[in-house]
Amino acid sequence: MKAVHINDVSKKFGDVVSVKDLELDIKSGEFFTFLGPSGCGKTTTLRMIAGFYYPSKGKIYFDNQDVTTLQPNKRNIGMVFQNYALFPHMTVNENIAFGLEIRKYDKKTIKEKVDRIRELVHLGPYGTRKINELSGGQQQRVALARALVIEPDILLLDEPLSNLDAKLREETRIEIKRIQSELGVTTIYVTHDQTEAMAMSDRIMVMEHGVVKQIGTPQEIYHRPNNRFVATFIGETNLLTMKVQSIEDNIITVTNDNGLVLQGLTENLAPGLQVSNGDEIFISIRPEAFESGPGENTVTGIVELIEFTGVSVNYFIKWNDTTLKAMIISRGTAILQAGDMIELHIPKQNIYFLGE
Ligand code: ATP
Repeated sequence: MKAVHINDVSKKFGDVVSVKDLELDIKSGEFFTFLGPSGCGKTTTLRMIAGFYYPSKGKIYFDNQDVTTLQPNKRNIGMVFQNYALFPHMTVNENIAFGLEIRKYDKKTIKEKVDRIRELVHLGPYGTRKINELSGGQQQRVALARALVIEPDILLLDEPLSNLDAKLREETRIEIKRIQSELGVTTIYVTHDQTEAMAMSDRIMVMEHGVVKQIGTPQEIYHRPNNRFVATFIGETNLLTMKVQSIEDNIITVTNDNGLVLQGLTENLAPGLQVSNGDEIFISIRPEAFESGPGENTVTGIVELIEFTGVSVNYFIKWNDTTLKAMIISRGTAILQAGDMIELHIPKQNIYFLGE
């Protein structure tokens, strides 16, 4: 298993800058995800790691080896694509064996390796089936087996679950995670699906327009977003523009033109963010940050709309001309109706301050 170091890498296509000044260290054995909206540069970065594109600037290392311009087939990587790229008229075994044949292993070794990896991906009895006789989920597991059978130093997965329906996507994502942790292979996963990224990854890199917006564990990315893009791209949040009224001891008081006053803790300032009285600042409050009844930062407002989701009741509350979404875990059903008054509060530690 190898670590991946990306050192000041940019990639341009003509005038388009796909990836800009990327610095990244992926640890050996890590499950690392590139997450971001379409066109943010995820696939371009993955392709540079695979060797399909060379960077316009910067270096890429696998451990200490400079692979910046090494050909793909010299990198010992396994790759799985969204469309699987399998040979439809060949059997499962023939597809899995493909990389081993190219590497000129003897027949006995190929059979042993193929059988072992087929068991690992739970396709034991399917060795002689043709690809076009398999379901989408099974095909994806063949693609995974084919990538893993060569014992790659690094496994690259480019939106591998996009073609599966929701239920199968969830099952397959658990399978991929199980196989990855059994083998301990360094894995880089590309997705625009934040739930998938959160559920599978050791760490996530969130990208926008070719630039890194944040790198961190799922918990860090969710609970301590560095900026508005990350706060809104991952999960849901109430994002408000406020003004700093005072900073005393470790407490920041913010207000807005609608007369809202909220207090939070200085430890929840985004990294590197420094503020003074009068500064404009953004605050992020997750819907689940609200608690019932009065307390710190009491919110008393009119319920505009109620959503009952089963697990929770979502209240859209009008508070001094600002609409907030609050999620309260349901123990039964919603007691209130639209038009009713509601009183909730937001504990100080649940308010995050963002500068950009
Ligand atoms: P998606 O999820 O849609 O695949 P992505 O985040 O993977 O998006 P990239 O495919 O890396 O994004 O593309 C990043 C930017 O670079 C886009 O603006 C894209 O149009 C551009 N780009 C990517 N590949 C090329 C290419 N071969 N030639 C020209 N422009 C390209």
